Amino acid sequence: MMSQPVYIIDGGVGTELQRRGAKMDPSCWSSRVNLQDPQMLLSVHRDYLQAGATILSTNTFMASRHLLEGGGIRNIEEVNRSAVKLALEARDRFASSDVLIAGCMTTLSPLDQAHDLPRGDQIDRNFREQALLLADAGVDVLLAEMLIDSDTAVSLLSACCETGLPVWAGVSAMLDGNTGELMTFRPPDKLAELPHETFDSLLENLCGLPIELLGAMHTPVEAMDSALSQVAGKWPGPRFAYAKTGMLTEHEWEFEGCIPPEEYADQAMRWIRDYQVKIVGGCCGTRAEHIEALSRRIVIDQ
Ligand SMILES: [Zn+2]
Repeated sequence: MMSQPVYIIDGGVGTELQRRGAKMDPSCWSSRVNLQDPQMLLSVHRDYLQAGATILSTNTFMASRHLLEGGGIRNIEEVNRSAVKLALEARDRFASSDVLIAGCMTTLSPLDQAHDLPRGDQIDRNFREQALLLADAGVDVLLAEMLIDSDTAVSLLSACCETGLPVWAGVSAMLDGNTGELMTFRPPDKLAELPHETFDSLLENLCGLPIELLGAMHTPVEAMDSALSQVAGKWPGPRFAYAKTGMLTEHEWEFEGCIPPEEYADQAMRWIRDYQVKIVGGCCGTRAEHIEALSRRIVIDQ
């Protein structure tokens, strides 16, 4: 038996939208769907709720000003507000008010460019703008995802903390293709171009911030153990864990070879047990079936 309840966050949102036919953009990824096909996004949220998710993530992962503008979108406010509105609508219609809405953000640069992030004050302003928009639109927590270097992570997390909402920080890791050692995540085609900070140093720098939860996410299933053991070694507070399966080719997700739902649930149950994880779910490549398999096990266990 588990001593405290475990919450279930949804599976991949962007990748699921792609699977249902959304056109993905290298800069703002699945953000266009918020205005162009609200019914498709609503149905993704609904399917995750019906599979047992108790936390929904908004489709705003790549919807900060610089990423939207890179995709030719200028109505930053409307894209973000519409995503939150749809997540709230899904909760009202298909679940109970206990479900939390997490406003997603990231420090990633456009997927087709290594260094195309605004510098200095400008990036701080863009993060602050999106964090305030999401907070004002009604999210319950802010979820900073795919943090891979301290400078941009601190900028984003500080913007999130200024809103006064609880802030969750998600770090991404991968295994070095040659040595098999854990490293902070780098898009494969940007490995050589991006400065590299150790996972350990990234965690060290985030642990001092006034965040509520810290976890490993968008990390391959096979790297989760070593990522979570480092997280557990540095961060005494509550942790979360959700892995990716499959891989990105160009800016589209490749689902071939994704881990089957029951096998994924086996792994996730272990993360809960071995690393005292309080929130589990799925990242890119996982689907409602993965969340359902996981949810069935957790209900039995609790
Ligand atoms: Zn992901």
